[in-house]
Amino acid sequence: MVVAIDGPAGAGKSTVARLLAEKLNFTYLDSGAMYRAAAVALDSAGEGHLGQQAANLDIRLGERVLVGDRDVTDVIRTTEASEAASRIATVRSVRDALVERQRKLLAEGDWVAEGRDIGTVVCPGAELKVFLTASPEERARRRAGQLATDWRTVLRDQTLRDEQDSTREHSPLRAAVDAIEIDSTDRTVEDVVTQIAGLARTVRR
Ligand code: C5P
Repeated sequence: MVVAIDGPAGAGKSTVARLLAEKLNFTYLDSGAMYRAAAVALDSAGEGHLGQQAANLDIRLGERVLVGDRDVTDVIRTTEASEAASRIATVRSVRDALVERQRKLLAEGDWVAEGRDIGTVVCPGAELKVFLTASPEERARRRAGQLATDWRTVLRDQTLRDEQDSTREHSPLRAAVDAIEIDSTDRTVEDVVTQIAGLARTVRR
């Protein structure tokens, strides 16, 4: 079974998806980490067809994120890497390569998969689709808290990324028609996780 959680940056997807996976005993897939790792690795990979390069990358997600032998866990979380990921995610051939990899993973077992296009493109057959949102200000405040920076600066970067993610030609960020929209603005993480876990149990029955 696949639970797809899509939504804009800072809506709480990662925290919610991670806890939900634990609660349901499912495996967690952070598809954004794949785009981030590809962006960081391809930045220095030089010339050549980007999609082919992305397909050849040995990206390993887990407690640590590795590309080949290189540990990119920390570097993929910088503002620069976020920007680079959002840029590289507009390249069709790179998306194709990463989507194929994600589909292979999701083909077997139980997953909570998080991203922008899980319910629309990667796994349209997901048994449960959630589109998680929060107000732009709340999203920026949450992220600023994690990064210990000013939320207005975060809001500026976030607005740019939202714009890039939702207006790109290939797989723009949007809710699947059959996704359940959950606004997490005034809610605790636990509350949201409990709600989605309840939905997942109902779907599974
Ligand atoms: O989710 P996260 O913020 O880590 O994703 C980083 C970037 O990767 C996003 O801004 C988005 O451009 C891209 N992405 C994507 N499709 C996904 C996951 C992430 O385009 N499924």
